[in-house]
Amino acid sequence: MGRAFNFSAGPAVMPEAVLQQAASEMLDWHGSGMSVMEMSHRGKEFISIYEQAEADLRELLAVPAHFKILFMQGGGLAENAIVPLNLSQGGAMDFVLTGSWSQKSLQEAGKYGPARVAASAQADGFTTLPAPASWQIDPDSRYVHICGNETIHGVEFHELPDLKALGCDAPLVVDFSSHVASRPVDWSRVGLAFGGAQKNLGPAGLTLVIVREDLIGHALPHCPSAFDYKLVSDNQSMYNTPPTYSIYIAGLVFQWLKKNGGIAAMEQRNIAKAQLLYDFFDSSSLFENRVAKDCRSRMNVPFFLRDESRNDAFLAGAKAANLLQLKGHKSVGGMRASIYNAMSIEGVQALVAYMREFEKTQA
Ligand SMILES: *Cc1c(COP(=O)(O)O)cnc(C)c1O
Repeated sequence: MGRAFNFSAGPAVMPEAVLQQAASEMLDWHGSGMSVMEMSHRGKEFISIYEQAEADLRELLAVPAHFKILFMQGGGLAENAIVPLNLSQGGAMDFVLTGSWSQKSLQEAGKYGPARVAASAQADGFTTLPAPASWQIDPDSRYVHICGNETIHGVEFHELPDLKALGCDAPLVVDFSSHVASRPVDWSRVGLAFGGAQKNLGPAGLTLVIVREDLIGHALPHCPSAFDYKLVSDNQSMYNTPPTYSIYIAGLVFQWLKKNGGIAAMEQRNIAKAQLLYDFFDSSSLFENRVAKDCRSRMNVPFFLRDESRNDAFLAGAKAANLLQLKGHKSVGGMRASIYNAMSIEGVQALVAYMREFEKTQA
């Protein structure tokens, strides 16, 4: 059996070329006589890997010079605490609830200060996005948090809110864990963006934080040192040992992205892949996606069989057809196809072809 089409929500499919390169460099990186795993993070070899990765990411995402790129650990969930520890200064924080991940962010921030709900789509079962004009933001808010792409509910902001236009001077914090590098970012609207690497950038263990310089240096006194953005930034993400191997693999992914046309090309490919799936669901008598059309995610596509008694047969047939990890998140049920950058259009076509067949034979 060859490599399958892998629709996992995360850790998720990697570009095959990256895995092959990592394999070929596993024992001896560039004639250094060492695996990347065995290198000191302070040695010139690893420093060169780190600097290349950072420069490539800055170029790919067009990160302006007044933003710092931090390579941290702890995942998206740790950032739910690290962001309030660094940005809240004891003041209020606003959250827009659009699904499980923003709910988690709200709950965690509440441990560190007054965390408020500015808007919520819960009444719609998290199938819509509340219009920014309706958000009730505290005038003294220290920041406004959104989840750019809700990995479980399959809802995505296709445009970042312009807080200034809403009369709000607070910075926007974006959890972009599951759609980073799938589309360009309008940095003029962002104060801080964070994301775990394991959805779209590389292996688990690396957490990316991109933060406007003026937001650094205001950590609460009890913020752990290793999570103080100022210490991390002043030490080029090496205040403590960074996740070196994960940074190396993410660096290979950045090179792969550049070779394949960069973020603009990825976005076009992702639009095409998502369109294939949503068009199928909208014309199917058995399968459906329940998210409002204007906020459907290009990365995570939850779907349901109208006859749920066929779920197990669907998954078993998918596995036999080499289409893996399609089971939906337990909190939502049904199915989910995650179609990150590394998922090819052929993979999505294979999934649609399988669903068409399944629909026919079981009707
Ligand atoms: C996966 C995910 C997280 C959690 O990341 P961990 O690395 O498991 O902490 C947070 N937010 C979003 C949007 C995610 O998709």
